[in-house]
Amino acid sequence: MLKDIRQADETEITSFVRAQGEKPFRGRQIMEWLWKNGVTDFDRMSNLPARLRESLKEHFTLSGLLIKTEQISRDKTRKFGFQCHDGLLVEGVLIPSQGRVTACLSSQVGCPLNCSFCATARLETRRNLSVGEIFDQVVLLQDASQKTFGTRLSNLVFMGMGEPLLNYENVMNAISHMASENGLGISPRRITLSTVGLTKGIIRLAHDKVKFNLAISLHSANDEKRNSLMPVNKSNPLPALTDALKLFYQETHTRITYEYLLMKDFNDSLRDATELADFCKITPCKINLIEYNEVAGSTHQKTTPERLQAFMEFLESKNLIVNIRRSRGQDIDAACGQLACKSG
Ligand code: SF4
Repeated sequence: MLKDIRQADETEITSFVRAQGEKPFRGRQIMEWLWKNGVTDFDRMSNLPARLRESLKEHFTLSGLLIKTEQISRDKTRKFGFQCHDGLLVEGVLIPSQGRVTACLSSQVGCPLNCSFCATARLETRRNLSVGEIFDQVVLLQDASQKTFGTRLSNLVFMGMGEPLLNYENVMNAISHMASENGLGISPRRITLSTVGLTKGIIRLAHDKVKFNLAISLHSANDEKRNSLMPVNKSNPLPALTDALKLFYQETHTRITYEYLLMKDFNDSLRDATELADFCKITPCKINLIEYNEVAGSTHQKTTPERLQAFMEFLESKNLIVNIRRSRGQDIDAACGQLACKSG
């Protein structure tokens, strides 16, 4: 089987080029086509000799994601269904807001973690996305953002389908090409990886001293409640998460974001807010309170505006930074926790 060229690094590509009797600088040119220009067709590498393009085709594969579907929400959020080379589908979302456009990216086809509030969890888990497939989402969404909103992407968030820390190498590799000056040149400060809180992965991020932002899908600062929402909490309970986050902050000095979906009579009381405020003391942080989107098969419901207000005011009284995230793209199932490739 031929190797995906986007799984090869510059050293490997340059030695391939040399073995073909070409000058080593051709390796850099190929890297630029792949990661700066985002081409997914060897024939578009127009400054390479034709014989080198032919050898590349004989030795490597290069297949890009294709936009299969596009849905537009009343609030202008756009959801894209991307088709992989093997026919599997993943989703990405463009969210315009106040002159900025955020791209929400997927890291896996399906997800094995089974969070009770998430539509992706209802899908069969198929596989990790490759480096190229993760990267292509940004190239395609960048293009769509420019065509539709006349502006480049302001932020990238890994909050689509899948748990990014279960696909650690490919996600990290793709982010490095997104952030590199030899790639898309997007500042890591504009990139956020969101995780359910896999402690081993967070420790690895800390040791790798990553420059991008980390968000934790927390949703409760109580182990019992969190166990019922997210089975993964049983093996990654809050004390272990606390230690991992302290290490992350110590190594990166990056403020942590907590995502908190407010669910009626489940995690929206002042007692829940007190537990959250205590948990949040561990490092500098900010909290995003998110409107819950009802998902088929889940018994949870959205909280009331009054309880949301009281919850927020309590946290603010504890000097915490709190934002309310209104749900976007709900009518096309593009909102948080709703991605399930229904359109495909
Ligand atoms: S919320 Fe994230 S980690 Fe949980 S099942 Fe959905 S995609 Fe997986």
